[in-house]
Amino acid sequence: MPFKPVEHPKCPKCSKSVYAAEERVAGGLKWHKMCFKCGLCSKLLDSTNCSEHEGELFCKVCHARKFGPKGYGFGGGAGCLSMDQGEHLQRE
Ligand SMILES: [Zn+2]
Ligand SMILES: [Zn+2]
Repeated sequence: MPFKPVEHPKCPKCSKSVYAAEERVAGGLKWHKMCFKCGLCSKLLDSTNCSEHEGELFCKVCHARKFGPKGYGFGGGAGCLSMDQGEHLQRE
């Protein structure tokens, strides 16, 4: 491990140092006020309506859409449609 001096935390979005005056905290990470926005719809967020996911920020709406139980995996339900579930029932 190379020795690293203690630095200002880096914004996950733009990789630049975040100073206290402009920091927003989510998911244990520090973000610039201007970088603190949804990765999908680019809406500016605050600590009450943000959702952090693996270093990315989303608004609650987009987060639920992308990672919520219903939208999870983008078509997790579509796999069921390709199974010929009704076919054997149609046999005489
Ligand atoms: Zn930033
Ligand atoms: Zn959004």
